[in-house]
Amino acid sequence: MQEIYPRFYHEFKCIANRCEDSCCKDWDIDLDSATEAFYRTVKGPLGDKMRRLAVTDEDGDRVFRSVGGRCPFWNDDMLCDIFIGVGEEHLSETCANFPRVAVDYGGFREHLLSFACPEAARFMLRSDSGAYADFGGAVEYSVSEDRDDGMSFLLKARARTARLLTDRTVSLAYRLADCLEFNAQVQCVLDGFEPAPLPEAEGSGGCGFILEMHQGFEIMSDAWRDALKQTAARADSLRIRDDFDDAFEQFALYYLYRYYLEAVNSGDVMYAMRRMTCAYLVTGKMDALFFEQGYPYERMRILQRYSKEVEHSYENTDALNACFEQDERFSPEKLIQCVIHNASFLNP
Ligand code: SF4
Repeated sequence: MQEIYPRFYHEFKCIANRCEDSCCKDWDIDLDSATEAFYRTVKGPLGDKMRRLAVTDEDGDRVFRSVGGRCPFWNDDMLCDIFIGVGEEHLSETCANFPRVAVDYGGFREHLLSFACPEAARFMLRSDSGAYADFGGAVEYSVSEDRDDGMSFLLKARARTARLLTDRTVSLAYRLADCLEFNAQVQCVLDGFEPAPLPEAEGSGGCGFILEMHQGFEIMSDAWRDALKQTAARADSLRIRDDFDDAFEQFALYYLYRYYLEAVNSGDVMYAMRRMTCAYLVTGKMDALFFEQGYPYERMRILQRYSKEVEHSYENTDALNACFEQDERFSPEKLIQCVIHNASFLNP
């Protein structure tokens, strides 16, 4: 099995109680069966608390429910009572692994850090496109049986998309537009059609509907709800700043490597591209609003929080998927119109 990592991966270390948006906040904690079996054997008040708070959620998973937006084992010093009481080796898989993500594609496995972790987000925002240089080479490792042709095709298409995304000779809005256009062609090939030029988009290019859609999602934090509301109220007047390009390029690369190859099973590369485009429009407009307000939250937090609120929620990703399937405003030509219309270089 070929293991592939971004260049910054092994430098990452959790900053624990110095973290400004801990993974111990807002989320229920999944309990894998081996961890829960161990927790059943722990003696004393800590063991009693573990057994009392382990419940089955609406999806049938065993979890520790967040209490008042906090993991019930996250103490007043912002440290983990389970880590302190029984040791790091007995953390649940979720706690032990986050923000590390590994996706097994058969002949190779790709490892990433999630943007929902502020410290991981900082690593990604400090890096350049070279951080993912080893991912391009994955085309050599797709050795597995009948999926080989499909995977090789997707790896080449992903590599081309990464080159388009990182071509800093043009504005990021145009790069995203090129990626949408290219992947619309890739999608034609996957669907068994002859690739054809995209039709001319009708309409204004406004993206208020995308902000409205996000306001209808499940939202964890009041700060995010408020920021979305303010951004949506100014959806038509805010323009995405040119200096947002470099930060979003890193977020876009993360999305690309995290989601593009899901198409090996779904047959849908446009899902990753639509998600990336929605993230650009929401975070880019919020960044423009925060610029005007003197950045009440730094730029990193906008992207990190988007990942935590939207990307890491099954409910929200299902809702996104349903919109993409049902609403023709998410067609590639309309999304291209949106990204160009809402960037500041054409509309100062
Ligand atoms: S979000 Fe990241 S840095 Fe913060 S506590 Fe979790 S793993 Fe550590």
